[in-house]
Amino acid sequence: MKNLKLASSGMDRRTVVQVGDVTLGEGFCVIAGPCSVESENQTLETAAAVKRAGANMLRGGAFKPRSSPYSFQGLGLEGLQILARAREETGLPVVTEVIDPRDVSWVAEFADVLQIGTRNMQNFALLKEVGKAEKPVLLKRGMYSTLEEWLNCAEYILSEGNPNVILCERGIRTFERYTRNTLDLSAVPAMRELTHLPIVVDPTHSTGRVSLVEPMSLAALASGADGIMVEVHCRPKEALCDADQALTPEQFDRIMSRIRPLQQFLAEVPETTPTA
Ligand code: PEP
Ligand code: MN
Repeated sequence: MKNLKLASSGMDRRTVVQVGDVTLGEGFCVIAGPCSVESENQTLETAAAVKRAGANMLRGGAFKPRSSPYSFQGLGLEGLQILARAREETGLPVVTEVIDPRDVSWVAEFADVLQIGTRNMQNFALLKEVGKAEKPVLLKRGMYSTLEEWLNCAEYILSEGNPNVILCERGIRTFERYTRNTLDLSAVPAMRELTHLPIVVDPTHSTGRVSLVEPMSLAALASGADGIMVEVHCRPKEALCDADQALTPEQFDRIMSRIRPLQQFLAEVPETTPTA
């Protein structure tokens, strides 16, 4: 692939993104939390539950890029203040989406990781702005994007001077309708061949179905991903956004109780040398 001067160079090392005490690119990082910050209670309760279950970071949107202008758009500043409180209470670093270049500098004061959503992957003005920020960036794959287009977007961020980019595979649009998108798990080993950047998988937005989140989380781990990002809500039926795909804290707890032993098991499986 051409012109990926930073995203594909120095493949003898892997980028490890440090977020507080959490290392992304070493071990298996679990990012969990609600789709949106809806209220202080909902966020603090969910944050405490995912922390108890062993999550490493908290997610939650204060700015929601919704398909309809009449859907809940997020709490904005108030949402970020709630996330900051959740971080104080749990110690979990916070991943939150930014959707407007004008907001990047002040959102970065609240966020530990700035998320670029699938709909904004090729918003080049936004990419340049997060490239100037002092915080790591989680760059989701555009739902209509090739790996090369995705890596070029990572290159936009890197070329502005921000070396801390985390890729996130979140499914692509295909003809299939049973799932919300089609999770392209082959993107994980493919990106291993193409870039030194860490990659996490979002089994929630890719499948859109609670029942598929656990198997795809385990498959993400086995595929070599550096982590997962999943949606959890203390009362999914009441969620203002993505209610059909949010896990209950109990369901999340069950996934965690399967992930950690699988992680241990895989760490003991010897790596084979690939044959031509
Ligand atoms: C999200 O993670 O909240 C989100 C909106 O995801 P995506 O951009 O992948 O649809
Ligand atoms: Mn969501």
